[in-house]
Amino acid sequence: MDANANARLARGHRHTAFCPIVPPHVLDKLSHAEDASLADPARRTLEHDALQRTRRRITTVRGIIPAARAAAPSDKPQRTIYDAQHRTSLPGRKTRGEGDQASGDDSVNRAYDGLGATFELFFKAYGRRSIDDSGLPLNASVHYSEGYNNAFWDGEQMVFGDGDGEVFKDFTIPVDVMAHELTHGVTQYTANLEYFGQSGALNESMSDVFGSLVKQHVLGHGAEEADWLIGAGLLTDRVTGVALRSMKAPGTAYDDDVLGKDPQPGTMDDYVHTSRDNGGVHINSGIPNHAFYLAATALGGNAWERAGQIWYDVLTGGDLASDAEFADFAQLTVAAAHARYGEGEEQAAVREAWAGVGITDLRAHVGAR
Ligand SMILES: [Zn+2]
Repeated sequence: MDANANARLARGHRHTAFCPIVPPHVLDKLSHAEDASLADPARRTLEHDALQRTRRRITTVRGIIPAARAAAPSDKPQRTIYDAQHRTSLPGRKTRGEGDQASGDDSVNRAYDGLGATFELFFKAYGRRSIDDSGLPLNASVHYSEGYNNAFWDGEQMVFGDGDGEVFKDFTIPVDVMAHELTHGVTQYTANLEYFGQSGALNESMSDVFGSLVKQHVLGHGAEEADWLIGAGLLTDRVTGVALRSMKAPGTAYDDDVLGKDPQPGTMDDYVHTSRDNGGVHINSGIPNHAFYLAATALGGNAWERAGQIWYDVLTGGDLASDAEFADFAQLTVAAAHARYGEGEEQAAVREAWAGVGITDLRAHVGAR
C-alpha cells in the first residue's frame, strides 16, 4: 500500500467493493440457458454487475463525521426505504421512513422489517448500534432495475432486485439475504476485509454467518433447529434446489439443469483455486461457513450467543487484518474464545470446528501475531 493510500485510510476513507449475493458463476451458467426468458435477465444482471465491479469506489466512513458523534447513538434503527421504480439511479423515491405506517408494497415492508431485524440482532446480542456502531441510518432501495437477479451493498446502502420471476423471486423475501447485505456494511466499518481471495471469502462468510444468525434470531431457532441455509425461499419452484448456499452442507444447496451445481467446498481439501468471482469469494466461503456451523452446533443453544459472540469479537476486535487468511481468522477465534470464556468448552469447540474443515495446528500459533 502506498503512502497516499495509508493516509486515506488514516483519514477514514476506505475502499469499498461491490458485494452482491448471487455470484457471477451462477448468473453466467443461467445466461447460457436456451430459454431466452431465463438467459436474458441473467445476462443483463451479469453485465450490470461487471460494470459495478470495475467501479470500485472510495467512500468516506461517515461514522467519523463530528456531527454524527454529537448526539448519543440511538437504541433504535433509523430506516428509510426507497422505490427505485425499476430504474438504476439510486436511491429512488422515498416510500417508507422510520415509524411510518406499512406501505401497500410488500417489498418495501419486507425491506423495512429486514433492516429492523438486523439492527435488533446486532444491538441485542452484541450492543452494536447500527452498521457503524454510531447509529448510521439504514437505507435500502427496492425494485431496482428490471428483472434484476441480485441484491447488493454498494458501500452506502442496500439494493434489492425483483428477480426475473423465472428462477429468482424478489430478493427482499429471505431475511438472511437482507442481513447478509447489511453485514457487509458492518465488515466495511470494522475489519474491512479485502474483497478478494481468502480475505474476500472471509468477508462473504461474515455476511452469511450473521445473515443466518439474524434469521435464527427472528425465528427463535437454536443451532439444532436452524436450517443453516442462505437464501431459502428465493428460488422458484422450477429450480432443483433449496437456497443459494448451505452452511451445514456446503455444495448441496442446488443442483439444477439451468443453474448448475452449488460449487462450495466444505473443507480445505476441496479449496477452489480460481480467478473468477474475485478469487472465489462466494465459493471458498463455504469453508469458514462450515466451521461456524460446526462450532455453533457443538456448543448448542442459540448460535448468536457464544459462537456468534466469538465471531463478532474477532470481526470487531481490531486484530483481524484486512488481508487475513482463513488460518489467521481461525487463530483469532480460538484466542477470542479463550479471552471471553477461558479454558472452557468454547475454546475446544472452536478449535475442533476448524480442524473439521482442515485448518489444524492452531495452538502453535497463539501469540504469534
Ligand atoms: Zn455478499
